[in-house]
Amino acid sequence: MTHQLYIYNTIHRKKELFIPANPPFAGLYACGPTVYGDAHLGHARQAVTFDVLFRVLSHLGYKVRYVRNITDVGHLENDADEGEDKIAKKARLEQLEPMEVVQHYMNAYHRNMDELGVLRPGIEPRASGHIIEQQDLVRRILKAGYAYEVNGSVYFDVEKYAADHSYGKLSGRKTEDLLSNTRTLDGQSEKKSPLDFALWKKAEPQHIMRWPSEWSDGFPGWHLECSAMSTKYLGETIDIHGGGMDLLFPHHECEIAQNVAGYGHESVRYWMHNNMITINGQKMGRSLGNFITLDELFSGNHKLLKQAFDPMTIRFFILQAHYRSTLDFSSDALAASEKGLQRLFAAMALLEKMETSSSGVVNAVELEEKCVAAMLDDLNTPLIISALFDGARTINSLHEKRIAIDQENLDLLKKIYHTFVFDVLGLQPTGSMGADDTLTADLVNYILNLRLAAKARKDFETSDQIRDTLQQMGITVKDRKDGFDWEITNK
Ligand code: ZN
Repeated sequence: MTHQLYIYNTIHRKKELFIPANPPFAGLYACGPTVYGDAHLGHARQAVTFDVLFRVLSHLGYKVRYVRNITDVGHLENDADEGEDKIAKKARLEQLEPMEVVQHYMNAYHRNMDELGVLRPGIEPRASGHIIEQQDLVRRILKAGYAYEVNGSVYFDVEKYAADHSYGKLSGRKTEDLLSNTRTLDGQSEKKSPLDFALWKKAEPQHIMRWPSEWSDGFPGWHLECSAMSTKYLGETIDIHGGGMDLLFPHHECEIAQNVAGYGHESVRYWMHNNMITINGQKMGRSLGNFITLDELFSGNHKLLKQAFDPMTIRFFILQAHYRSTLDFSSDALAASEKGLQRLFAAMALLEKMETSSSGVVNAVELEEKCVAAMLDDLNTPLIISALFDGARTINSLHEKRIAIDQENLDLLKKIYHTFVFDVLGLQPTGSMGADDTLTADLVNYILNLRLAAKARKDFETSDQIRDTLQQMGITVKDRKDGFDWEITNK
């Protein structure tokens, strides 16, 4: 491995050189969605972030085992292990089987992610398919003395764990502070401490999703699935575990405690978290009325949207911010991204028809170095994009001035754009920027060549008519000494 990738390790709060435990293999686990509703921008940002990481690791030559789970049971309405299971609630409201809800939203999630160019993970385990593994982990934690059983439910004993190990090292929270900020348990609670969390919950009589166990007919706690499934598929040592910052506490903090209690050591070498999305400066939330699903973005069907947006525009917009920065969404910001992405693809199209000469006027090596350095510096996608924009400006200006590029640099430029735009950033021209554009370009060029022929035989009437008709269609023609140029000025 000649390239050195640095990634920000949340648990050490600094950038660190990525060294997998067992090169050339790299294990990546990313928390996936709880499938009880349509995917939104937050889902898109998390999936795109870890998709880029997956792409970069693969590009660098690692054999990546990428696992992303589907939560289809056990995620209750609030983090205090109370309330209904989110999926069971949806099923009750819509009079469906819980697994119908799961299948419906999982299919929709896959469709949305495919549209966003997010590569599917190598393994996509579901919580309901790994009950045996989760029960095994509960037994291990009980045996180690860090859990207790009450009335058929099993809870993790955070205070006992914190006395022997450090609890809160990922989030930087201390148990004393957490205790003073948590409401005290009412007399009804089975927990010894409000910090404790469920490993296994006894199912109420009306609860449909339930499995037998020595403790009760019940279901696993939400945090448990990621510990059990990541260990099953990636082993007791996992190179990278990722997720959104909203999962840092309590979900990932609890995962660490479960792994240490159950396997005797920490499992994750690098923790990575992407930051959140705000909408016009506000936190996104269903209750705030600014909640936008991906299908609404793709159709433009939402009061905060001025138009529909191509999925690739959403992806580009997400990549224009560093994954650790907050990203503020607005319809105008997305419209700007749309123009930016079109500029990038237009420059790539120009490269394909660039003429070559023997003299070198472009230094493509420098551009490549910039892109590589940005990629290796904690996946700095905004810097990659800004370097590609610089290159695009050069390409445009050379084309304007009819200056040719030497073959070697032209080949390298094509390789750089191909590698970074397609492979690393995962962008693809679609719809209005793709195959249709090629066909339009071919047609316009064909018509303008007929016009050149008309001019050559001094048929200025036909020549002017063609120019004016194209103008009415929104295509502006510029005459040049050696031919013509044209652009779509009104789309
Ligand atoms: Zn998880």
